[in-house]
Amino acid sequence: MTLKLDNVTISQLDKRLLSVNTTVNKGDILSIMGPSGSGKSTLLNAISGHLTPPFSMVGRIDVNGCSITSMPAHQRGVGVMFQDALLFDHMTVGQNIMFAMPQTMNAKEKEKAVTAMLSAVGLDGMEKRAPNELSGGQQSRVSLLRTLAAQPNVVLLDEPFSQLDSHLREQIRTWTFEQLKVRQISSILVTHDMEDAIAAGGEIMELSSC
Ligand code: ADP
Repeated sequence: MTLKLDNVTISQLDKRLLSVNTTVNKGDILSIMGPSGSGKSTLLNAISGHLTPPFSMVGRIDVNGCSITSMPAHQRGVGVMFQDALLFDHMTVGQNIMFAMPQTMNAKEKEKAVTAMLSAVGLDGMEKRAPNELSGGQQSRVSLLRTLAAQPNVVLLDEPFSQLDSHLREQIRTWTFEQLKVRQISSILVTHDMEDAIAAGGEIMELSSC
């Protein structure tokens, strides 16, 4: 899938916050850096369909040549991964992942897919665990599996590794980027860390505060 931000300009009331004109090819990860307040999270909100007043956007957001600019968030095929895993505490690990799966899959198919996904990330047999029984790194993996389970065309990563300690950070980062590339997903990574941006291997864009 290709993500195109075609002359996207976001304003806060009548003040221009940022302008972006770029294309993220399938399997590529665009890194966005910039000081706090420069509009990184606001840009992700615009792409995922969660932009609310006082912000407004002009321009066009295309996925594979089709505009998603005016679509409601749930129809965009855009998955988001945040720095906090944000798993549902009242659900098991398996239920968290199944919750995100398309409604076209039946219960048996979902269960089978969960087993395979957990196994692929070294979490075999953890379906019935509660999220708070997992380590931080394990929760991050489940969080990304949940994002991927929705079969998104585009994934937005908002500082997803910043809560992890350094050795785990590198491991989870490598694994996450591999998953996105294998699935040919176009992704945007917001980070403060140049090492993250370099590891992502794509274009690095700097937003300036104005
Ligand atoms: P970043 O993610 O780069 O730190 P943000 O996108 O969060 O930047 O913020 C962009 C600008 O919008 C900043 O000036 C911030 O203070 C302001 N801002 C963020 N959220 C809101 C909000 N809900 N209402 C009004 N202003 C906001």
